[in-house]
Amino acid sequence: MRIAVFSTQEYDREFFDKFNKDYNHDFTYFETALNPSTTVLTKGYDAVCVFVNDKVCKQTIELLSENGIKLVVLRCAGFNNVDIESAKNNNIKVMRVPAYSPEAIAEHTVALILTLARKTHKAYNRVREGNFSLNKLMGFNLHGKTVGVIGTGNIGTAFCKIMLGFGCKVIVYDIKENTELTQLGIEFSTLDQVLTQSNIISFHCPLTPETHQLLNKASIAKLKTGAMVINTSRGALLNTSDVIDGLKTGQIGYLGIDVYEEEENLFFKDLSESIIQDDVFERLASFHNVLITPHQGFFTQEAFEQITKITLQNITDFQEGKPLKNEVL
Ligand code: NAD
Repeated sequence: MRIAVFSTQEYDREFFDKFNKDYNHDFTYFETALNPSTTVLTKGYDAVCVFVNDKVCKQTIELLSENGIKLVVLRCAGFNNVDIESAKNNNIKVMRVPAYSPEAIAEHTVALILTLARKTHKAYNRVREGNFSLNKLMGFNLHGKTVGVIGTGNIGTAFCKIMLGFGCKVIVYDIKENTELTQLGIEFSTLDQVLTQSNIISFHCPLTPETHQLLNKASIAKLKTGAMVINTSRGALLNTSDVIDGLKTGQIGYLGIDVYEEEENLFFKDLSESIIQDDVFERLASFHNVLITPHQGFFTQEAFEQITKITLQNITDFQEGKPLKNEVL
């Protein structure tokens, strides 16, 4: 099978080439993202392999179908960037990597929280400049704080377990209950309870029409004053300009994000010598109590190896007509 791989970085190629020795798929790597205008590159291929910011919208799907593409294989868990209905209508299968290493993202979430709570990002810079003053570095204990979790699937569950270990009270909201967590003594609450009672609130639900901008002017008003907001899920769960207003009034006391609404124009690129045109992003980055990482939650050796192997196996399952256990339906 000939597979066109989009949004390829050096590490994608390295891992695919290493593990493909056991599978022998025929990959062509493109650095460009997949979108309607780059579908022209897919002529002569059987499948496309895409990542979080490739735009697999209705128009892309229709053009892929015209080019004979039969499979869209995502090398990630989230699939909000794929029009599943159009794929079905065009007889294109969509597969993903539903779970690879939820701990990778859960641990990164904790890294964001600890950095903001203990200001280690500031201490790092200060010490490098010979400034050993503690002024304005005072943090707060996690022990005894209430942590609210929205979305208790693979990542949310891994995150809850870590926070229990810190001695936090964990309260959660999900549209379906997870017995693994209730057995640990965690009670499922309403969304309002999580919003109003949490010192730290962390988003782990997928981006869907229901969760789009779940954190907005109205829900920010319900937060405890000075609450910490963490988002490692998808940028559009937050209304960014409402979050900026919340930071300006102090309603949001800390913000840690690994994802951003308009990240496809920025993330995974080296723009260090460019002028960033996104003024909303630049405003966000200017706050002393905001920490932004470039969608790296998944980026550990262990997780990346799993993503690669599962993606290769997904392609083989499709090729050999086996049941598609990782198909997005
Ligand atoms: P999952 O499918 O295991 O869990 C998602 C949970 O969200 C489920 O329990 C589901 O019931 C719940 N949910 C769905 N709709 C909801 C709603 N309206 N309100 C509350 N809860 C709702 O997914 P996961 O593997 O835990 O991943 C969660 C998200 O994390 C993914 O969708 C993806 O966007 C993001 N992610 C980010 C990274 C990263 O590198 N930062 C990596 C992987 C995944």
